[in-house]
Amino acid sequence: MRIDLHTHSSASDGTDTPADLVRAAKAAGLDVVALTDHDAMSGWAEAAQEADEVGITLVPGLEISTAYHHRGVHLLAYLPDPTDPPLAAALDRILAGRTARTPAIVDALRRHGIAITEDDVRRESGGSVAAGRPHVADALVRLGHAGDRTQAFTDLLNPGKPGYANRYAAPLEEMIPLVTGAGGVAVIAHPWGRSGGTVLDEAALSHLRDLGLAGVEVDHQDHGPDLRARLRAIAANLDLVVTGSSDYHGLGKVDHDLGVNTTDPEQYERLVSLASSP
Ligand SMILES: [Zn+2]
Ligand SMILES: [Zn+2]
Repeated sequence: MRIDLHTHSSASDGTDTPADLVRAAKAAGLDVVALTDHDAMSGWAEAAQEADEVGITLVPGLEISTAYHHRGVHLLAYLPDPTDPPLAAALDRILAGRTARTPAIVDALRRHGIAITEDDVRRESGGSVAAGRPHVADALVRLGHAGDRTQAFTDLLNPGKPGYANRYAAPLEEMIPLVTGAGGVAVIAHPWGRSGGTVLDEAALSHLRDLGLAGVEVDHQDHGPDLRARLRAIAANLDLVVTGSSDYHGLGKVDHDLGVNTTDPEQYERLVSLASSP
């Protein structure tokens, strides 16, 4: 059984529609795929319908933008009740922060002498509810200010660069209980990748587990073999579920093909058994 628990569609910053993504997952030989768009559940219905058609198991999820000790941390939430009011309110707040951030980034870039408008960004996001920095990056590429999305981030959009603007992110320690309160399962995405850095050591993960954290994404392209081995050992110590995933973005991210990392079936069963949404 091949299981990939982290993918993005055009409901956030991926390039495949939810239905296309599900078909691509089937074609890639996956048996289970989770759709985990940034702060958005709007792709679930279309993906679920297509999953029924092609015969693959869809795990509805999302990747929530949170903050922990002033660092951005991505929190995967699987199988939460989408109608849970506290969770929905928290996601609304994140989306509002994301929407307000784009004009701030565009202003900062213009002050730096780069010709770009909010319309240029809107053209890239194609009406996605989660328009954000990747769409700014795509606009910069299209306008010839960067060679590709990665270069746009490295040269212009990352912290310390001219086009960086801060924004609201939900406190991780509040978001984990919100996810479990909505019947979902909370797993930290790429804990030692570019965004999490080293604030998530064993002591921090132990503390977060006490708040309801269920697992960590160990097998992710941001983690080399050494990091994976160390993180796997910590997960074993703390009895956390271990997942592996592609973080597929369609054409939006290279080297993240569907199924490039997968989750062990036993770990997947454990994760699903922890969900309690209706
Ligand atoms: Zn992420
Ligand atoms: Zn992701």
